[in-house]
Amino acid sequence: MASLYKIPLTNLSGIGDKKSELFARLGINSAGDLIRFYPRSYEDWSKPCMIADAPAGTLCCIRAFVEKVKPPARIRGGMTIFKLTVCDGYDYMTVTFFNQKYTYDKLRNGGEFLFYGTIKCTDGRFEMTSPSISSAEGKGIHPVYPQTAGLSTKQIENAVRQAVKMLPEKINDPLPEDILAEYGLCSLDFAVRKIHFPDSASDIETARERLAFEEMLILQLGMALLKSTGRKETSCMKIYKDHSEEFFSLLPFEPTNAQRRAVSECISDMTAKNYPMNRLIQGDVGSGKTAVAAAVCYSAVRNGMQCAMMAPTEILASQHFDSLSALLADKGINISLLTGSLTAAKKREVYRQLGSGETDIVIGTHALISEDVHFASLGLVITDEQHRFGVAQRAALIAKGESPHIMVMSATPIPRTLALMIFGDLDLSVLDEMPPGRQKVGTYLIDSPKRQRAYAFLKKQTDAGRQCYIVCPLVEQNDSELQSALEYADNLKNTPLGSCRTAILHGRMKAKEKEDVMAAFSSGEIQLLISTTVIEVGVNVPNATVMMIENAERFGLSQLHQLRGRVGRGSEKSYCIMVSDSQSAATRERLQVMCRTNDGFRIADEDLRLRGPGDFFGSRQHGLPELKVAGMSDMAVLERTQDAARKILGQDPGLSLRCHRGLMFEISRLFDKAGGESLQ
Ligand code: ADP
Ligand code: MG
Repeated sequence: MASLYKIPLTNLSGIGDKKSELFARLGINSAGDLIRFYPRSYEDWSKPCMIADAPAGTLCCIRAFVEKVKPPARIRGGMTIFKLTVCDGYDYMTVTFFNQKYTYDKLRNGGEFLFYGTIKCTDGRFEMTSPSISSAEGKGIHPVYPQTAGLSTKQIENAVRQAVKMLPEKINDPLPEDILAEYGLCSLDFAVRKIHFPDSASDIETARERLAFEEMLILQLGMALLKSTGRKETSCMKIYKDHSEEFFSLLPFEPTNAQRRAVSECISDMTAKNYPMNRLIQGDVGSGKTAVAAAVCYSAVRNGMQCAMMAPTEILASQHFDSLSALLADKGINISLLTGSLTAAKKREVYRQLGSGETDIVIGTHALISEDVHFASLGLVITDEQHRFGVAQRAALIAKGESPHIMVMSATPIPRTLALMIFGDLDLSVLDEMPPGRQKVGTYLIDSPKRQRAYAFLKKQTDAGRQCYIVCPLVEQNDSELQSALEYADNLKNTPLGSCRTAILHGRMKAKEKEDVMAAFSSGEIQLLISTTVIEVGVNVPNATVMMIENAERFGLSQLHQLRGRVGRGSEKSYCIMVSDSQSAATRERLQVMCRTNDGFRIADEDLRLRGPGDFFGSRQHGLPELKVAGMSDMAVLERTQDAARKILGQDPGLSLRCHRGLMFEISRLFDKAGGESLQ
């Protein structure tokens, strides 16, 4: 199988340079890649049903005789249309095709065919539009591939068919035989042939189970290896004396037990070990991660280190700068702010102070990784809201020091079982306790008819001096995000909210424009912020008390929780209003979870239970490789692979045994694709 990754696509018939470029857009560069490019779904032509029995609104296959064909006629836009009547012996159905002269020629002579499409039934008359057709012998179960502009699923299928023919008689299976036997998995040979060209639904099931297992196992083994190879001995700076208590006494509040634990875990990582700290601090919004970072910086500075803290936006950087300055400035600790919007002269001054070692703590945006930045003795690097930074940006900052300690802070609660896997190369501290006195954000699920009442409620809040967010509906395929936000804002004009000072925030705006809007909202100049989903994570506007979310059903629980985290940050009672007209029981159950709890970790657990792990991988935190089949799998697979990974690593921690060569190869393939560190 390995050798197929060396066969370029242009070796296949029907694929030239131009087409191979289209394939490259799908991440397919070799025959091997093609084999590993799995179908998105399947068309089952193997069990045709009667017209009258076809389930409405879902795809199905009908076997029928052509009764009457009307010749193609021209319609607007240069299109042609033709209709035919077909009969399955009991019922008639009208089938409509657009622009398919070729199909017309084929059907004109009558005969029996299979029609694959969606049946619509109006007033007892059956209709199908633009179905796929095939001769009556049928073609079994057919793969449907994810497409890109210019490549049809048919073309992909043809290429895959050729690639599968190139497979050697016996494929080397990366999964060791004892693992296959113990977990009841099919061979790779069976899996890659049947995932593309199954003979039955149970083939698909068997193949998928094996491929999902393999993918998750490879990911976990890879993360475990990263973790162990990352731990090379170096001469990092160390903490000799812990100054945490001194720092805690400066705080206007008592640290929570969780904060104390996280700080002491960091200090212990930085004390007397010959490799640097590499730790993730995970805490829900508002759990007090900044104080943890500040405490660790304090001890680091007292032990002679410079610290750098990188935030994803200027606003966040200034907020951190202000809160740290307030605590530490008069304690003889020099803090600087470095962002893109400083004047050139100011920047030069900060560069100088960093180089001379006058600055103890610098807080900034990615301006920190500019090549003009040099540190005298960078000992600790902190990134906030780390998922916003690519692995490369984090690495660039780390490279400014000699093996500095690394701390990353994330506000996305992830269930522990997954965190160990997703952040396998980091140690984990969890802030699972909120500072005392936090109010729950009152959360409500309403439907469209109640929207006007919700507007009136928001108006009351703004009249009382508060501010509100509205996350507007996600766009349909053809609308632009901007148009949807503008239309929404326009419709508000005739509601009680029409008189509010309003601004729009959307994804097409430049970073600077977004920051300006956020700054105006932050200062209270704007009362109502209408946003697509780009509301800056981590921004703190304590005066905002309502988060209204349209089309709530389209968001994952974790996303909803993040959005809700924008309110409830001040002393005023806050609210989250989710609007959804979904009738699905599953959706309503999911949304009700939000109403029941404010605990991000519980919500993440529920999300995992209800939607499987795919979403967590899907968000591509931490530059993780993209998984293809694992998204379809469930918790059971996850637990089984965790178990298998433990066994394999227990036997062979470096995966250096001969029987694990195939695993190692697949690990490198997965991680190289993600642009991550190479493992070989
Ligand atoms: P996040 O974890 O979301 O980054 P922050 O660090 O911004 O949270 O903290 C949120 C708010 O809680 C800040 O106003 C901070 O001063 C306050 N805070 C943090 N820790 C405590 C504590 N132990 N007791 C009371 N308030 C706290
Ligand atoms: Mg924060």
